[in-house]
Amino acid sequence: MTKIKVSNINHGNPGPAGWNAVLETPDPARVLESKITADYLVIGGGFTGLAAARRLSQNEPEAKIVLLDAIRIGDGSAGRSSGFMIDLPHDLNSNSYTGASEADIRQTAMLRTAVSFAAEAAEEYEFPKETFDLRGKVYAAATSNGDKHNREYAEHLAAMGEKSTLLTSEDMQKMTGTDYYSSGLFTAGTAMIQPAGYVRGVAKGLNGKVDIYENSPVISLENDGRYWKAQTPQGSVTVPKIILAVNGHMQSFGFMKGRLMHIFLYASMTRPLTQSELDTLGGDAQWDLVPADQMGSTMRKFKAPDGVRIVVRNRFKFSSKLEASEQSIQSVIRDHDNSFQARFPMLPDVIMEHRWGGRLCLSWNGVQVFGELEEGLYAATVQNGLGASKGTLSGLLAADFASGRDNEYIADYQNFGLPPRIPPDPFATMGASVFLRFKEWQAGREL
Ligand SMILES: Cc1cc2nc3c(=O)[nH]c(=O)nc-3n(C[C@H](O)[C@H](O)[C@H](O)COP(=O)(O)OP(=O)(O)OC[C@H]3O[C@@H](n4cnc5c(N)ncnc54)[C@H](O)[C@@H]3O)c2cc1C
Repeated sequence: MTKIKVSNINHGNPGPAGWNAVLETPDPARVLESKITADYLVIGGGFTGLAAARRLSQNEPEAKIVLLDAIRIGDGSAGRSSGFMIDLPHDLNSNSYTGASEADIRQTAMLRTAVSFAAEAAEEYEFPKETFDLRGKVYAAATSNGDKHNREYAEHLAAMGEKSTLLTSEDMQKMTGTDYYSSGLFTAGTAMIQPAGYVRGVAKGLNGKVDIYENSPVISLENDGRYWKAQTPQGSVTVPKIILAVNGHMQSFGFMKGRLMHIFLYASMTRPLTQSELDTLGGDAQWDLVPADQMGSTMRKFKAPDGVRIVVRNRFKFSSKLEASEQSIQSVIRDHDNSFQARFPMLPDVIMEHRWGGRLCLSWNGVQVFGELEEGLYAATVQNGLGASKGTLSGLLAADFASGRDNEYIADYQNFGLPPRIPPDPFATMGASVFLRFKEWQAGREL
């Protein structure tokens, strides 16, 4: 007999997610208001939970599958992300770009499985290119360190047998309209998504196959030896198998306490650019830049329903409590505006319309948390740096594992081991904050 009281159902994501705000207002949430039973319950409607639910519905079309999310789908971290579904190992924990390792080649194959799975969903649900487009991305550099990083990463890719294209500062200016960047590195396999549009679209596509309830946080889990009962404020789901796809909220369910690092990332989105501003800027109709230095700024120019906008993402803030205040945005506004103005001085009147923050979950050794925690309770959590693709894969694998399907990558995920303990607070917060600030300072013009 297990009883788990969920400790944190207040999601504390500051600001409304801009990607979600520019889309049509969704229909009112369907809230769980009764006691129901099912064959599978997925908890969490981000990249991971939606991939798990989709895969379960493919594996067992007759099964009754329920998905619960504490908030609206599109308003969580998935919908707050920058929308790079990346197919190459380049995460926050990877420091070495020299030499090809079997592990990198295998990880690339796994990430591509995730991107293909998402591409199939995009095709089946007829997503427009603005929502899902396998158009690749550019690592943008603005310093000699960034240039070095790009060259070394290109060599590393070549050693893996992967193609990439180094771009000169002129190429970068032609693409983006700004002379800010000194080099770029294009790789073709990344899917660029409108993150809120993507998760909302997958949820909509699952209609009829998966019962999705939003604004329905799981507040406790109880196992009577045969079934799990997930309690929400107004209802419950009794079910033999649960997939926990709550990323860092794993900790709120009592698992991995003292082993997870929660980092808030922040973004700002401009208002739509006028035609004359677009003409002044020049460059391609859209572009997608990740920083060559991981502490730098992510930038995207993209087509929203009401016009072309630019998104800036930078700054990392550690939070041991999984929450950031609304006011925390104030401390990043200046960095976002400075980063934008430094790159686009020709657009002095373009202001930011949306600002928001969201959460990443990291483990010290970069491992994800996956597997059967207790009989019938599966985890697909702690996605680390590449959550869009890693989460999609872990959801898919958790679904295969729970429904007894073979998948060659399940063993890889089961061999990850446990994240090591991190120092207790206040040492963790102090240490991480100083470290992140130092790395941001080191990033210099990349920020
Ligand atoms: C600003 C920003 C930019 C980013 N950019 C990128 C990027 O470009 N590419 C990339 O790969 N990653 C990016 N990330 C990281 C990425 O967003 C996460 O790694 C990813 O969302 C993890 O997916 P997930 O489905 O596992 O978790 P989440 O997206 O966090 O979804 C978990 C869901 O579980 C729900 N949940 C939690 N507790 C409960 C409960 N008790 N009951 C019911 N539901 C619950 C939450 O409401 C949430 O919707 C970015 C993150 C941020 C904040």
